[in-house]
Amino acid sequence: QKEVSATDLKECKGFKGHDMLAPFTAGWQTTDLHPLVIEKSEGSYVYDINGKKYLDSLAGLWCTALGGNEPRLVAAAAAQLNTLPFYHSFWNRTTKPSLNLAKELLETFTATKMAKAFFTNSGSEANDTQVKLVWYYNNALGRPNKKKFIARAKSYHGSTLISASLSGLPALHQKFDLPAPFVLHTDCPHYWRYHLPGETEEEFSTRLANNLENLILKEGPETIAAFIAEPVMGAGGVIPPPATYFDKIQAVVKKYDILFIADEVICAFGRLGTMFGCDKYSIKPDLVSIAKALSSAYMPIGAVLVSHEISDVIYSQSNKLGSFSHGFTYSGHPVSCAVALEALKIYKERNIVEQVKSISPRFQDGLKAFSDRPIIGEIRGTGLILGTEFTDNKSPNDPFPPEWGIGAYFGAQCEKNGMLVRVAGDGIFMSPPFTISPEEVDELISIYGKALKATE
Ligand code: PLP
Repeated sequence: QKEVSATDLKECKGFKGHDMLAPFTAGWQTTDLHPLVIEKSEGSYVYDINGKKYLDSLAGLWCTALGGNEPRLVAAAAAQLNTLPFYHSFWNRTTKPSLNLAKELLETFTATKMAKAFFTNSGSEANDTQVKLVWYYNNALGRPNKKKFIARAKSYHGSTLISASLSGLPALHQKFDLPAPFVLHTDCPHYWRYHLPGETEEEFSTRLANNLENLILKEGPETIAAFIAEPVMGAGGVIPPPATYFDKIQAVVKKYDILFIADEVICAFGRLGTMFGCDKYSIKPDLVSIAKALSSAYMPIGAVLVSHEISDVIYSQSNKLGSFSHGFTYSGHPVSCAVALEALKIYKERNIVEQVKSISPRFQDGLKAFSDRPIIGEIRGTGLILGTEFTDNKSPNDPFPPEWGIGAYFGAQCEKNGMLVRVAGDGIFMSPPFTISPEEVDELISIYGKALKATE
């Protein structure tokens, strides 16, 4: 058994790969690249094993919303661990933190009045749960053919078999025999990349809503169960919706009795300057997926919020159909729930939504000021989420040669200058903690500027 010592990593002498089959990484490990090993976090910063400090511009994976060392979350976890480290929530047995968190979530989400919260360990499990809930619901209603899902190209909904199928990213499908046949994909709502010459944002949204309607009619509305969307697309490129998009999409979905699932895994709890993405875009979903900032990532937890209509059907029909036999050992894990409850309390006490709202113009305007630089195609975002896409001639149709690895080069320049960004092809993404200070935003912008200059 090879032991990975700090010295191996520090010197990186001949260190090829390690013993972990790492998520979204295997393959790179056959090269001489060494992993960046993070050891400590403090506020908006993380430190590697050599003590080098980085501004964590992605908040882990869009999730450490309260930064790296919030003592109240640590205390909440410790208190729960000392009282009851685990009990499950199956078969009418449960724990107080899970009951309290469910109640708190139903009170916090107001775009639609929700009836129940179902707990998972992750966003992927939340979206898998969505599919099973919707199928059970339609089976209970005697509509066994209403089973297909429509998601969008470039969406990201997770990496389990079902959530990867829902996702609209080819890398998640190729070599895995996905997507599953019950998933259809409609247009990605990226105006800059896909609008026709002379088309306004509103006209673009109308065209996409028409395309969605045509897809539904072609497949048969009686076969389409649900539509799933992230309010702002995250991993597929940080793509805020174009004007009037969700109004028009919701009208189509409603017309054909298709459920609307909001995947709020990245957007919830303040990221967009509203408590939920649904609040920002007037989305009235039937089902909602949450995770990440739910516990500020201090413990793994996700959840599905379920409307009264769906919950009523499930409860009233379960005598005939059998119980909703789905769940995880750690559904409603008391330590995760205790931490999430404390995170929600902090969001409310510190008015985190207002905090994000007030800091985000500094973040958005400061970075968008680089938009006219020659290698930048588009800088887009809202609240505390932003993506940069590098292209030649400012055109979505003129990508740089992939062998240049321009996104990776920019990312490496950021890293050299003490900041971690998410690199994705010819783009980079940022979503700092909600607690980022004005000085830290200025530092983030300054490092971005240095990396840009080095990349040009
Ligand atoms: N949904 C969205 C919108 C996400 O961004 C993610 C993860 O990034 C997921 C679902 C999957 O969440 P998890 O990685 O916790 O399974």
